[in-house]
Amino acid sequence: MASVIYPTTNFTATEQLCITHGEGIYVYDDTGKEYIEGLAGLWCTSLGYSNTEVVEAITEQLNRLPFQHTFGGKTHAPVMQLAEKLKAMVPVEDAYFFFGNSGSDANDSHYKMLRYYFNAIGKPQKRKIITRERGYHGVTVAAGSLTSLPANLAHFDAPLEALSILRADAPHYYTGRQGNETEAQFVERILQNLEDQILAEDPETIAAMIVEPITGASGVIVPPEGYYEGLQALLRKHDILIWADEVICGFGRTGADFGCTTMGIKPDLMTFAKQLSSAYFPISASVIPGWMYKAMVDQTNEVGVFGHGYTYSGHPAACAAALKTLEIYERDKIFDHAAEVGAYMQAQLREIFTDHPLVGEVRGKGLIAALELVSNKTTGATIAGGKGGAAAVKACQDAGLILRAVAGNALAFCPPLIITKAEVDEMLKRTKAGVDTAYEALK
Ligand code: PLP
Repeated sequence: MASVIYPTTNFTATEQLCITHGEGIYVYDDTGKEYIEGLAGLWCTSLGYSNTEVVEAITEQLNRLPFQHTFGGKTHAPVMQLAEKLKAMVPVEDAYFFFGNSGSDANDSHYKMLRYYFNAIGKPQKRKIITRERGYHGVTVAAGSLTSLPANLAHFDAPLEALSILRADAPHYYTGRQGNETEAQFVERILQNLEDQILAEDPETIAAMIVEPITGASGVIVPPEGYYEGLQALLRKHDILIWADEVICGFGRTGADFGCTTMGIKPDLMTFAKQLSSAYFPISASVIPGWMYKAMVDQTNEVGVFGHGYTYSGHPAACAAALKTLEIYERDKIFDHAAEVGAYMQAQLREIFTDHPLVGEVRGKGLIAALELVSNKTTGATIAGGKGGAAAVKACQDAGLILRAVAGNALAFCPPLIITKAEVDEMLKRTKAGVDTAYEALK
């Protein structure tokens, strides 16, 4: 175990897998055993494990200029090129980019930019942020408070009260429906709950609502038809900004450039990390519209420095990694590939698992999916203590497939975007073996 404090880990668990190298969608442990990385690491290694082009771009940049900060009056070519490249891609009007190192710090940066902006335009009371139950937005102090998963809040005295965070219903019909409610009725009810909450809080005190277009760590929730249409109308009506956390969905994961495109969202703010650089070098981006940036510029005219920045904001090697990754996405039509192979993976998952006795729901879009493991297929009753997810992950690992169980018993899939249909077949063959074994073990 060494003297490492491992993240998101039960410290008493003694089993660890030590990974030594990777190739394509495969990784290998220190005994030489091969695994398909079915979760692309942590939803991030979009180009797989042996992309030498990205490695070379990073190396070249490190040889030329291994570090240059971007504080007060300093810049370098890769950071400017990356901003221009992203500006041409994102669905945010006249976008500006604040670069960081992780999805968490990017969400914290947004949090602070929203405060800075509303203070600048003389609306300091517009400070509350709406997040959703089961949402995951990271673990730093602000992002961790926006996250709604119990383990990320409990024992940390989170959420911090001063952050003024409100929580809306999770848009998951399968686990959230009441009685015989239809999907449309479910959507109507949770949007009505939200409007009641907004009115009770006073819309003038609410700055933004953060949403993952399709969620990841909360169990791959694909909100029902009509949800985002209704949500956006509601937020626009009350002058609340829409903040899309694209840390998982961004860059092809859902079978389009962004999760916002797939789900029909017109965002004001966006958060990127992970697949921005295929995780070969840490980098994140907090995207804001030009009108918001303009107000922040006016504010610095008045008060001086915009006092937020990380040593590694716009790190040259990270920018080089992102630039090369984006070039490969475009050149190799990776998003189209993800759409095609993703549709195949979704169809195959449904074909193989819809009737499986351990599976209550198969859900997902593009190359992100989950199987909801249940103790009773008819009622959808959950398996206590996340034991279904844990058993399936262990059995899949034995069968040569790395997956993650999230939100208890949701067995999540998020393979590298370069996966082929034949590799999807192999991944699902190993999944079937693992889920069958788990079913027998849980009986
Ligand atoms: N937002 C979403 C949607 C995520 O899934 C994650 C991480 O999984 C984060 C934010 C936090 O990113 P990081 O772990 O890079 O801080």
